[in-house]
Amino acid sequence: MTTETISQDQTLLEDLRAARPLLWTNPARSDAAEVQTVVDGRVISLADSIEAQDRFLRFAPLLAQLFPELRETGGRIESGLHRVPAMQRALGLAPARGALWVKADHGLPVAGSIKARGGIHEVLEFAESLALENGLITRESDYATLAQAPARELFARYEVAVGSTGNLGLSIGVMAAALGFRATVHMSADAKEWKKTRLRARGVNVVEHEGDYAEAVAAGRRQADQDPYCYFVDDERSLSLMLGYSAAALHLREQFDAAGIVVDADHPLFVYLPCGVGGAPAGIAFGLRQIYGAHVHAFFAEPTQSPCFLVEMLSPGKSVYDYGLDNRTEADGLAVPRASELAAEAMAPILSGDYTVADDTLFLDLHRLRVSEGMQVEPSAAAGFSGPRMLTGSDAGRSWLADTGLAATLPNATHLVWTTGGLFVPPEAYAAFAERGAAIAAAADDDLAR
Ligand SMILES: *Cc1c(COP(=O)(O)O)cnc(C)c1O
Repeated sequence: MTTETISQDQTLLEDLRAARPLLWTNPARSDAAEVQTVVDGRVISLADSIEAQDRFLRFAPLLAQLFPELRETGGRIESGLHRVPAMQRALGLAPARGALWVKADHGLPVAGSIKARGGIHEVLEFAESLALENGLITRESDYATLAQAPARELFARYEVAVGSTGNLGLSIGVMAAALGFRATVHMSADAKEWKKTRLRARGVNVVEHEGDYAEAVAAGRRQADQDPYCYFVDDERSLSLMLGYSAAALHLREQFDAAGIVVDADHPLFVYLPCGVGGAPAGIAFGLRQIYGAHVHAFFAEPTQSPCFLVEMLSPGKSVYDYGLDNRTEADGLAVPRASELAAEAMAPILSGDYTVADDTLFLDLHRLRVSEGMQVEPSAAAGFSGPRMLTGSDAGRSWLADTGLAATLPNATHLVWTTGGLFVPPEAYAAFAERGAAIAAAADDDLAR
């Protein structure tokens, strides 16, 4: 190791502890065309993502029946892909450095966040396995029959439980209750009130816990362990969740093809993914890597006070508290002190990097996106927009682009910001977010004028 890399590492650790925005690039990333991904001792591949997608398709007729908002898409839960030139200008990303796109999971129906992919997939997988075991369906059946009495009576005997800061609870609670399961969501103190209200309105049992996210999960897990009729969705350890997220890559490929977006050695793809426990971004990064090989570069985005995934990559088993951080952030979907080890294991050879974002920047970008593109996202979902600046504007980013040879291909690059939530934020709460962002923008303008 050169003295230069040692001092870079020291600066990184100082920034991490001081909760200053930083960019870390992954020295262990592999540029091989294919990497083997092992999760919990099992090799997973594109075939597993396709299986998850097929499961969504089998359930589509049932979902179209249960959720009026899905009738138009025949029961498919998917989001748009949008070119966002006005936001690109607002961010100051020169066209010579690539084109900015948004993958609009903030508008995903039913759950209102990216959790519609993983959370709903796991509930469907559980429901499917019960129905198959009990002879109610075969894989070739019309799953709409699961809306009828025999299946509902079967599902009503079971409880589906989850620990959540909010969005995972929303997706699992809403889907489990719609299928006829009893549903319990263990929520941490930092969960937003409107998310609890929304769940209770759907008949979901909401249990509030004093502590943080990790404690809510542990409490839920303990309770479920004692009850054979209780199925616990374990965000920190679930392969089903991750594979549900990974199916997004298959649909994105269709959208890229339709939009004429090419990903190859001369046209790199940078994907910026807000990261909490890591399951969602890891699932998507894994799926994209299976499709586009080393030409896709996944960067995870975390709050400066909750960079649990970066901590896990630097020192496995540690939490953000071990680095003197407090895990307090308005980005409630990302307020996680300890990352999923499963996700971290899968990402070791795949992840290109991880950066952190101050809360003020989340609000600023939330405001810019509203003004420039009319898109409404929650603070967590704005974390991706710092990515292009971190990559092209920071010392760490520029030296990484130079070292990897990617700097030369930047004009052809696609920068894809994954906006992960927002649809169900109540208007008053969103107005307060936007106002805070506008005030930060005004203060920045004043600074520039002075
Ligand atoms: C959950 C969530 C994420 C990140 O997902 P993890 O699996 O926790 O990493 C990002 N954005 C929003 C809005 C979320 O709700």
